[in-house]
Amino acid sequence: MLAKAEAARGFMPTNEGLALHEAAKNLSVDGPVLEVGSYCGKSAVYLGSAVIDTDRVLYALDHHRGSEENQEGWDFHEPDLVDAQTGRMDTLPRFRQTIFDAGLEGAVVALVGDSPRIAYNWQTDLAMLFIDGGHGEEPARMDFELWTPKVCPGGLLAIHDVFKDPDDGGRPPYEQIYLPALASGNFTETAVVGSLRLLTRV
Ligand code: SAH
Ligand code: MG
Repeated sequence: MLAKAEAARGFMPTNEGLALHEAAKNLSVDGPVLEVGSYCGKSAVYLGSAVIDTDRVLYALDHHRGSEENQEGWDFHEPDLVDAQTGRMDTLPRFRQTIFDAGLEGAVVALVGDSPRIAYNWQTDLAMLFIDGGHGEEPARMDFELWTPKVCPGGLLAIHDVFKDPDDGGRPPYEQIYLPALASGNFTETAVVGSLRLLTRV
């Protein structure tokens, strides 16, 4: 029961993190890995440790102000992640500490800003894209629309918190990212691990 509640909150269990790590380690195309949504750095450690011994970079994108469900008054708010000076959430210091502790500063580059804004300006093809950002309908739709075309042929699209059954968790990653990716004909499913989906760009 606890595991299910945690999954619904978007936490990354070990088996899903390891699947992400293996996927990033075995990419068959050149180019960087980019994750949308880093929070305190857990998924960035799984991905970053897969590329640290190569020339590849992990771009870890997050505005570090938290998603809707992380804000004060919401279920998944953590008061110790609020910056006393601004009164706003700030996960950047925690993220930095995580990456430093894991010895991954050499491979992980933080992109601190709004996902659509960065996507509009992003021109480098990606060997792997991991989407785990805003889980509302509009943010998920924007991440699909703006980021997925940047995955190069043979590259991977990983999506987190994909729940087919509404009882298991929120719908937008399933409805706004996973289903449209398959329907586009540009991606085929290569692996399913918990709420993680791995798709390959054809
Ligand atoms: N991938 C992480 C968890 C990410 S939680 C892990 O598994 O460890 C989702 C994150 O998306 C939050 O940190 C939030 O700040 C970020 N986010 C939500 N909407 C965003 C947006 N429009 N631009 C940038 N980051 C965003
Ligand atoms: Mg998640």
